[in-house]
Amino acid sequence: MSTAVSPAGLGGTPASDGCIMALDAGTTSVRAILFDEFGRRIAVAQRPLTMKYPHPGWVEQDPVEILSAQVACMIEVQFKSGIHSNRINAIGITNQRETVIVWDRQTGQPIYDAVVWQCRRTAPLVERVVAEGHGDLIRERTGLVPDAYFSATKIAWILDNVEGARDMAEAGQLMCGTVDTWLVYNLTRGKVHATDFTNASRTMLFDIHKLDWDDELCEIFGVPRSMLPEARPSSGDFGEVSADIMTHHPRILGVAGDQQASLFGHCCFKPGSVKNTYGTGCFMLMNLGGDAVTSKNGLVTTVGIAEGGAIDYALEGSVFQAGSVIQWLRDGLGLIDSAEETASLASSVPDTDGCYVVPAFTGLGAPWWRSDARGVIAGITRGTDKARLVRAACESMAYQTYDILKAMEADSGHALTSLEVDGGAANNPFIMQFQADLLGIDVVRGQTSESTALGAAFLAGLASGFWADRDELTSLFEDETRFSPEMAEERCEELLAGWHEAVRRTLA
Ligand code: ADP
Repeated sequence: MSTAVSPAGLGGTPASDGCIMALDAGTTSVRAILFDEFGRRIAVAQRPLTMKYPHPGWVEQDPVEILSAQVACMIEVQFKSGIHSNRINAIGITNQRETVIVWDRQTGQPIYDAVVWQCRRTAPLVERVVAEGHGDLIRERTGLVPDAYFSATKIAWILDNVEGARDMAEAGQLMCGTVDTWLVYNLTRGKVHATDFTNASRTMLFDIHKLDWDDELCEIFGVPRSMLPEARPSSGDFGEVSADIMTHHPRILGVAGDQQASLFGHCCFKPGSVKNTYGTGCFMLMNLGGDAVTSKNGLVTTVGIAEGGAIDYALEGSVFQAGSVIQWLRDGLGLIDSAEETASLASSVPDTDGCYVVPAFTGLGAPWWRSDARGVIAGITRGTDKARLVRAACESMAYQTYDILKAMEADSGHALTSLEVDGGAANNPFIMQFQADLLGIDVVRGQTSESTALGAAFLAGLASGFWADRDELTSLFEDETRFSPEMAEERCEELLAGWHEAVRRTLA
């Protein structure tokens, strides 16, 4: 595959003591962050976003609020740091994925609120498309499991429910895009209508093998191709920020969806390398190299890295309940006062004495896929006390991660080479050590909790020549915490057998 632009030397704003600005347009807030040449965070500005829930299961946001909050952060971070746009070498954008916005080509005004990735309103539409027999085609071309989560049916819903929208779309009068596209379009004052391959690969309209929008899928979902942005590599030219927003109008040279930006920010450049974010849920991506493997375990295949003239695909899986199990211990059971104390409580006992918590609060995801499963606490004895229960809850994050990573290994044929971690619960040394023990590989936690934003900065900085190459990026990560496996293999097997027995009970 050839990139539209040369990966290096696009010529960002020259500045010897310059920095890169990352825009992190997340679901609950947007941020602008400045990074120096060592990948260190210099300054950050953040604004919360309002979530709207107009009906049960519906989730929307105001596109103008997303844009104005983002611009406010861009301005604020310059004043906070004293670093103004003449010293900003390039800009990288990372964003909540799948969320869509539709706007008028003439006026630039959105015709409806942003329909957010979490929104379930189009579930019946997806069911219909699958019932019509299009499931296999969707899986083959997009790498995704058909779901309302992805963008396609959200765009179709707007066209079918906003008065006159479908006619306007057919007449070429509407444009659409994910949040990255909306920001790029407005920051360049309408000069660039583009997205990157990683965001495109989450729309269910994009052929991840051909790296192009798919006419048949556009037809199936009723989305006119003329609305769609141009899809480009993640590292390359996305236009110049308009001078009325930033005086020295730096260029946007990097764009990637949040999970893929995080993969890049962790420098997971080798096939088999994996990053896992331990937040409310866990999000795991494994680099597959050039091979877009189809999962047999219900994981999705997606564009992982589109930088430097090549494509690395990735397998993606998620654990629905991870850090949320700790919130449940605190807020539901009142067993603990804070998430932080779980590490010392869990370490205060040698093991759980056969107790397992399977937090299938809303069913079990990959690799089990049972939405009807419900949680279980198994193996309770008179000796099961607070510390053992807390330990079992902490261990559940590591067991669930283990199950998905084993599915990824089976699907990809790649043995795990490393696990890079971040997210709130990655600060728990007990969980990280237990994870290394179960997997039998090193678990590596970097110094920064900013892998997602850093990934966007890396993509932009490589395109501008701010950083020379991937080796230079890798060399920035010297201060990391490494957890190496210590547990005997037989003990691991014994524990895993107990875990899988407990999972079987939730499935029953
Ligand atoms: P998100 O981005 O999904 O909101 P974060 O990455 O901020 O998540 O992580 C917050 C989650 O991590 C919460 O569910 C919290 O219970 C859990 N968490 C935070 N610190 C710890 C800790 N030291 N040990 C275990 N879990 C933790």
